[in-house]
Amino acid sequence: MTSSVPPTPPAAPGPPVSPGPRGGAPEPRPALLGLSRERLAELLDPVVDRPFRVRQIYDALHQRAVADFGEMTDLPKDLRAALAARFRVGMPRVVRRAASDDGTVKYLFEVERPGRPDEEHAGPPAEGAPGATIEAVDIPDGDRRTFCISSQAGCGLACRFCVTGYWGPGRNLTAGEILGQVLAIRRAADLPPSGYNLVFMGMGEPLMNLEGVRGALDVLTETVSWRRITVSTAGVVPGIDAMASWSHRPNLALSLHAPDDERRSALMPINRTYPIADLLAALARYPLERGRKLTIEYILIRDFNDALADADALDRRLRGLRAKVNLIPINPDPVLGERMVPPDDVQVEAFRARLERRGMVATVRRRRGDDVSAACGQLRAFGRDPRGFREGLHGSPPGPPADSQ
Ligand code: SF4
Repeated sequence: MTSSVPPTPPAAPGPPVSPGPRGGAPEPRPALLGLSRERLAELLDPVVDRPFRVRQIYDALHQRAVADFGEMTDLPKDLRAALAARFRVGMPRVVRRAASDDGTVKYLFEVERPGRPDEEHAGPPAEGAPGATIEAVDIPDGDRRTFCISSQAGCGLACRFCVTGYWGPGRNLTAGEILGQVLAIRRAADLPPSGYNLVFMGMGEPLMNLEGVRGALDVLTETVSWRRITVSTAGVVPGIDAMASWSHRPNLALSLHAPDDERRSALMPINRTYPIADLLAALARYPLERGRKLTIEYILIRDFNDALADADALDRRLRGLRAKVNLIPINPDPVLGERMVPPDDVQVEAFRARLERRGMVATVRRRRGDDVSAACGQLRAFGRDPRGFREGLHGSPPGPPADSQ
């Protein structure tokens, strides 16, 4: 909540009314975060009498990352009260903040309780589930700083190496909820509006929520270059093609993780819908600026996809694509089972060197934040029931869970 002023319904039509906080009644006040300048001006019209006030409010939300109208001290007091009566800021609430020894900080945010049945979902709505919790990670690395943010509250794609997938589907986040993660981190860490990289590698599949992602990017790219933003997909071909048609595009990363369809389908049920050949064709269509490359992410799992013959097969698959490979030794987690373990360092380096000898650019992603479960694939929504994975990674490939497609 952003104000102690009792909520009253907006006088003018606004964006869809969001469901209320955990266990509470639906919140009738529309959130302002995530709205374009034009939409904000329309919505504020009944309250604001002078156009420059809209700019002041927009800047307070996005430049200063205010969480409450009371912090907009450059506005008259009666205007702040009128705003609080009709609207809310919509900043996610920080529930928990866990700092790793390596400087990585993981945030657990509460957004809203899962959406209405008529809302577009990545999977079935989590009826009766408690408030949606999402995670985002702030990763400082020398002069660089990267925020890893979530696009959905959960994920219906059920990748076998991913804790988020284990915990099951959730709803799409709104543009404001996506943007709000960045603002809330900036606020907590006292950071300016620019100077960071942004990766959509948190919870959820961003290309299953293109509307929310696009809305957040439209605002975020006022201060952060498109070149500093990467959207990572499990391989949603229509989403890749949709993003390819944008006039400005973020960097694109594909989670490939296996060189053949049989093993990729065992790891990632979505491969049954969009197999590797279709995916690579979509990547080849994705327009790249001069000097830019696609990123192919490849999780290394011991005795599953880490043989040097797999490196050779991966190279053959990717030949002709402007791409670099990012190798990620899997981050074990109790819910993933005992077979999801990384190769030893010698094998990881041998795999990387094999790719490099064949002419690929290949790097190994350093593990960050694993002491606070903030590493890749370890983000989860607390307080939700796991759906559980079936066994079978090394035997016959598991079928997609019934609720994943
Ligand atoms: S890896 Fe990404 S797409 Fe796959 S289950 Fe996890 S969050 Fe979803």
